[in-house]
Amino acid sequence: MQKSASSQIDTSTISSYVGRFAPSPTGPLHFGSLLAALASFLDARANQGRWLMRVEDLDPPREPAGSAELILQQLQDLGMDWDGEVLYQSSRLNAYEEVLNTLKDKRLCYPCDCTRPKIKEMGLVYNGSCRERDTPPEKPFALRLKTEALEIGFNDAIQGNFAQQLEAEVGDFVIRRKDELFAYQLAVVVDDEFQKITHVVRGWDLLDSTPRQIYLQRVLNYREMSYAHIPIIVDEQGQKLSKQAFAPSIETDRASDAIYKALTFLGQAPPAEIEKERPDTQLQWAIASWDIQAVAKVGSLPLK
Ligand code: GLU
Repeated sequence: MQKSASSQIDTSTISSYVGRFAPSPTGPLHFGSLLAALASFLDARANQGRWLMRVEDLDPPREPAGSAELILQQLQDLGMDWDGEVLYQSSRLNAYEEVLNTLKDKRLCYPCDCTRPKIKEMGLVYNGSCRERDTPPEKPFALRLKTEALEIGFNDAIQGNFAQQLEAEVGDFVIRRKDELFAYQLAVVVDDEFQKITHVVRGWDLLDSTPRQIYLQRVLNYREMSYAHIPIIVDEQGQKLSKQAFAPSIETDRASDAIYKALTFLGQAPPAEIEKERPDTQLQWAIASWDIQAVAKVGSLPLK
């Protein structure tokens, strides 16, 4: 049978951009997490990219029941539809274990039972004191990745150049915690690779985690990706709006207000005519007008 011309895919219009939103389900979506969701969604859609969803549910004690479902429902009510299936990190434990075993086999990580007060005495940067121990510590212990005296830098699409001397400024970092949970830094890198992410757009509080993630990507021979860190929202005390600080949940019956306000915070100057429009109309405008360079090049913005 002959293929009709219309069934042929025009590859010239397929974008290689793959973005994602990766909430930790520690409570409902609040204004701060809405900004990260919206910025990553708009950047993906404005670049004809895919926008994937990953629920970072690796820390059960911090995850009230039903939070993941609530966040996903809120995003849908706000008109932000993701592509494909949701990836739950709780379903990926075997993959993290495998990567951990590779790192152990290459002797790139080691057990450490140093306590928080001890690390405080070291000046908060872990000094690698468990690296050369002859006998492994008794459980519980964390696993740390060996760092090198290297500068790891990258060009953030919003914040510009950022670099860290990994060993001196961060030290060997935890990839499996003392409570045997996989650490965020390991899981995020393994899954950004697994989901073939090309662009990460997220809150500025994770800017200084990025060199650790790039280092781990290099150690594991993974691809590198582009990063953009949007300002986080802080309250009057300068505290990050967070689920832990009981930031109010986004009320999706007022979705248009939330999106309009979020677009304003992202520097997109939405016109007054769309203030009362339905979320999907607002999002259409926002995708067509998205300008990542209009996002404030600062770490935090006060909630006004
Ligand atoms: N799960 C993290 C959070 O909710 C975000 C991780 C990321 O975007 O890399 O803060």
